[in-house]
Amino acid sequence: MGERAPKLAFVGLGAMGYPLAGHLARRFETLVWNRTFAKAQAHAEAFGSRPVELPEVAQAEMLFTCLPTSHEVHELALRLLPYLRPGTLWVDHTSGEPELARKTAAMLEEKGVAYLDACLSGGVAGAVEGRATVMVGGRPEDFARAQPVMAVYASKIVHVGPVGAGHAVKAINNALLAVNLWALSEGMVALVKQGVEARLALEVINASSGRSNVSENLFGQRVLSREFPNTFALGLLAKDLGIASKVIEAAGTPAPLLRQVREFFEVAKREVGSSEVDHTAVAQLLERWSGVEIR
Ligand code: NDP
Repeated sequence: MGERAPKLAFVGLGAMGYPLAGHLARRFETLVWNRTFAKAQAHAEAFGSRPVELPEVAQAEMLFTCLPTSHEVHELALRLLPYLRPGTLWVDHTSGEPELARKTAAMLEEKGVAYLDACLSGGVAGAVEGRATVMVGGRPEDFARAQPVMAVYASKIVHVGPVGAGHAVKAINNALLAVNLWALSEGMVALVKQGVEARLALEVINASSGRSNVSENLFGQRVLSREFPNTFALGLLAKDLGIASKVIEAAGTPAPLLRQVREFFEVAKREVGSSEVDHTAVAQLLERWSGVEIR
């Protein structure tokens, strides 16, 4: 990092943004804004950040966003456009859409503002513990500027290509998460129905070739525990699958499995009746359909 610490701003103090902005505020002067403003005030008390009116975030040298979709990011960019100054770097941690991000980046470019799509993985636990993974799209010189700042909460930061590439990699990663979650849920209800104890089946899978992050870090902790803690909403994962479909469409490559998993999650959203529940609620749907509980 240069001689002088940059002044930062963070917009979107949700499940991910709140802890990330906390890491930043502990080390840098950090302005925060959130739609529900009480969260910005609580953040200031917890981490020493400074809650401000929205236009003031444009005074920062680096502006971070972590919003549900690229649409909210684009809307925010439109609102901030009159206030933004040349030389500002916008680091977008939203899991968003490559196409819309390119449009947002082009609009910001006209004001001399650079944009990086810097998607996160590692979940809320990774964000809280400061060991997130970040996949970044944008210009190399902008990446070089943001990288040392993001390092305060990330243990792996990879520049994957031009603007939009971070969003594309993230969408495919989350499509793989969805495949594993759905497939393991199918497999586990079948085993339980056959009289196998779920805990033992999972223990074996986690020591065998069928294991995944879902089997190692989600299924026991969320499904077998019956806790289903809400840290990553089913609706957000379904949104990512929609983005993955667009990536596949743009590539023109065959993807029967990844296309299908999107359909499964759209059905799941309707059947579960809520987008707000944790994504692991799809296991409960498979349980309902098969008449067994994964125990
Ligand atoms: P949350 O729903 O917890 O937070 C969303 C944030 O966006 C809140 O601060 C919310 O404000 C704000 N917001 C929503 N709509 C608007 C709007 N129209 N204008 C301004 N602010 C708005 O989401 P997450 O933190 O879970 O997710 C954020 C992004 O990170 C998503 O793209 C998600 O896919 C991605 N992600 C999430 C992970 C997870 O494990 N949760 C992991 C990796 C990526 P308010 O407080 O007022 O509601």
